[in-house]
Amino acid sequence: MDITERKEDDQRKNGFISIVSHELKTPLTSMSGYIQVLQLKAAKNDDDFSSGVLGRALLQVRKMVSLIDGFLNMKRAETGKIPLNTTVFDMAELVKESEVESQATISSHNVIFAPVERTIVKADRDKIGQVITNFINNAVKYSPRGTTINVACVTEETNAVVSVKDQGIGIAGHDLKKLFERFYRVDRKEIQTISGFGIGLYLCDEIIQAHAGKIWVESELGKGSTFYFSIPTESSITKLEES
Ligand code: ADP
Repeated sequence: MDITERKEDDQRKNGFISIVSHELKTPLTSMSGYIQVLQLKAAKNDDDFSSGVLGRALLQVRKMVSLIDGFLNMKRAETGKIPLNTTVFDMAELVKESEVESQATISSHNVIFAPVERTIVKADRDKIGQVITNFINNAVKYSPRGTTINVACVTEETNAVVSVKDQGIGIAGHDLKKLFERFYRVDRKEIQTISGFGIGLYLCDEIIQAHAGKIWVESELGKGSTFYFSIPTESSITKLEES
């Protein structure tokens, strides 16, 4: 495709995404409120069946909200500023939260969290959490049911390094560099039926760059992939600030 055609295509997608994001977010927020009201009522009536169904409905609404938040973040990333709300926290704790979330939401794969080492970082906790969730969700999307996904969190010199390894379809060499580009999706028969917009990894890259970190992937076609990111530890940031 020639470059102007691609640009026009991107602009059309952007316009569409802005409208959809704004128009959908308000009703979804109300919907999640109504579901929660019903949940309270179901709990009061000891109606376990309704509680269960409403819980699942709420999970789906939350998924939609996080997809829309992704689109809205993309608009911000484009103008060059992802606002960071930094705090000091233990990366291991955040990874353990992902473990609890994975246990509740992923039944198709065996997700193993080890090793998970304590590493204090100074970062935007929610945004780093989004990157971890994105890596895990992609691992689920692009690997066969029943396979294992390994999540690890280690300290390497002055960095916290988080990795997500899958036993999936893998990525060809020529696609590796482009994965983090906006709207980039690998064009392969076996993934034409897997839905996505190609903005997840683009946003992950923006978030990690905003933390002065690194994001990368190691993969071979048919042999699974490992996605990594690293961000500086809190003590290394403090040392840098003092010097
Ligand atoms: P999406 O999954 O919505 O298409 P992403 O930005 O998250 O968008 O990923 C971009 C592309 O990178 C995907 O379309 C897919 O082709 C490839 N990809 C991402 N994660 C993996 C993975 N774990 N294994 C194989 N391919 C992957």
